Amino acid sequence: MDYISTRGKVGAIGFIDAVLMGLADDGGLLVPKTIPQVSADTLANWRRLSYPELALEVFSLYMSEEIPREDLKKLVDDSYATFRDEHVTPVRRVKNNLHILELFHGPTFAFKDIALQFLGNLYAYISRRKNSIIHILGATSGDTGASAIEGVRGKEGIRICILHPHGKVSKVQELQMTTVDDANVLNLSVDGNFDDCQRIIKELFADVPFKQKYHLRAINSINIARVLAQTVYYFYAYFQLENQGQAGPVNFSVPTGNFGDIFAGYLAKKMGLPVGKLILATNENNILERFVREGVYEPGEFHMTYSPSMDIQVASNFERYLYYLYGEDAAAVSALMEGFKKEGKIVVPGEKLRQVQADFAAYGVQNDECLATVGQYHDEYGYLLDPHTACGVAAADRLAGDGEVTVALATAHPAKFNEAIELLQIEQTFPPQIEALFDKPQRQTLVGGSNEAVKAELLKFF
Ligand SMILES: *Cc1c(COP(=O)(O)O)cnc(C)c1O
Repeated sequence: MDYISTRGKVGAIGFIDAVLMGLADDGGLLVPKTIPQVSADTLANWRRLSYPELALEVFSLYMSEEIPREDLKKLVDDSYATFRDEHVTPVRRVKNNLHILELFHGPTFAFKDIALQFLGNLYAYISRRKNSIIHILGATSGDTGASAIEGVRGKEGIRICILHPHGKVSKVQELQMTTVDDANVLNLSVDGNFDDCQRIIKELFADVPFKQKYHLRAINSINIARVLAQTVYYFYAYFQLENQGQAGPVNFSVPTGNFGDIFAGYLAKKMGLPVGKLILATNENNILERFVREGVYEPGEFHMTYSPSMDIQVASNFERYLYYLYGEDAAAVSALMEGFKKEGKIVVPGEKLRQVQADFAAYGVQNDECLATVGQYHDEYGYLLDPHTACGVAAADRLAGDGEVTVALATAHPAKFNEAIELLQIEQTFPPQIEALFDKPQRQTLVGGSNEAVKAELLKFF
């Protein structure tokens, strides 16, 4: 499988090079040159596979020429052995036609572990195979950082530096990152918000000589390996329902920030999975909701909400969708992104907007509705949603048609976001792994929100 850039000036390159490149050198995002098609027969064959077996089949379509099957199998098995549930991503029915896909049974209790356990092992594998150092640089709104650190802590040949917005991540998220004492981990707490962190990272990666000299690698959801790892659970959820006797297409409702998770669902649908509606749920940072409704993509005012991992204005994976919306026309995408840089917005014409609305339904959940949803599901169904998941569930309740079956993605465990849960006077029992964090010492470095300040810290660390 070859990979090319959405802006047309990189490619074709192989899977490992695409993983190592992260952001494409022309500023675009890497996508598979052709999307592999999964036939009805293959779907039927995959139906009874375990999660790791299914992951191996899906990954083989995208990376098999470069990673021998035995090696890939070991990477996959190691990555999902760290999960606490035998199904890795179990589906639970909460009420008629609404199922919750629990993606939070990995080491850091958020869905990011599904991709980052794999990416951590993959980087270690690549480092061994190429006998070269890997320096990982990433920005986080909270969950990616913890998960990426957990994926590579203590691994030989790898150093990791994570930027998070100072004081704008939840207490548990902060502790998960900063209580790790392995020498290969550096946490920078940046004076700014997540968009500032993400901008700094993008600028440092765009500095190609710097990136090459220091072997900088990405773990953000722009990395194609993350998207691919996330397509697996759409298939797996579908099969779980099918094995329970549910036939026909299924909607997925996805709490969305950087558009990585929902793009994986879009890719699964393009591969041939019978997906009904892809419901895009946002919080008050609703740039993507406005895009789906009006065809205008324009960052608005930044809001802090109960779902901080979705407090994002510029969705870094969105360009991948634009690429397919414009019929894989890299020149058109380059022009749109150029325009976005100059004018700060993208406007798509009516006929494209109709396509967008065929691909997605969207709903932005306000803070009070988010909390009300957590309260309602707790009282009526005895199920405690985290605030991100609650956005997806609220959107599903609004947008799923009568009789349609919807799977709402549970992207985090509620213990990670107790600040919001407490407001409802709901007392939850923390899992012991989270409870233990409160007694550990923290390590982090405060830095200003400029790329010079961050660069200076990096040069000390590398
Ligand atoms: C990262 C994250 C999201 C958003 O996922 P994207 O791929 O960025 O759209 C939603 N919920 C939680 C808990 C997250 O950690």
